[in-house]
Amino acid sequence: MEKEYFEIKDSPIHGKGCFAVKSIAKGTRIVEYTGVKITKRESEKRCMENNEYIFTLDDKHDLDGDVGWNPAKYINHSCTPNCSAEDIDGHIWIVAERRIKLGEELTFNYGYELEDLYDHPCMCGSPNCIGYMVAEEYFDEVKKRLAKTAVSR
Ligand SMILES: [Zn+2]
Repeated sequence: MEKEYFEIKDSPIHGKGCFAVKSIAKGTRIVEYTGVKITKRESEKRCMENNEYIFTLDDKHDLDGDVGWNPAKYINHSCTPNCSAEDIDGHIWIVAERRIKLGEELTFNYGYELEDLYDHPCMCGSPNCIGYMVAEEYFDEVKKRLAKTAVSR
């Protein structure tokens, strides 16, 4: 199914990425982010082992997307993403946020928490990149912090 909308190849952002093989209409469900459903306890353990593919499902469970049948795990984070990850009836779908052109790299915001900010520098290269991979709701806070750091130096 993934062959329908994108191909996986080397990315300028990080490692491998997913690139549109045709133009994709806004609102399209491009691919399901699949994996193994795991408990929070198991999830914590795997995160300590630097598994970067853990997805929060709900209060009790997470999804470990580090499996061979999940091409969506190659989609990179961006501060200005063209996709979003949406929970549709308990399934995580990567949905086009706008029209995506042939050849564009697919991206979504990983939605990381603020507490791990400095562990996840961002290399997305978008003009609005704030330098770290973090959920959009924290962008203002991060900008404030970075401005403070710049002043104190
Ligand atoms: Zn960025």
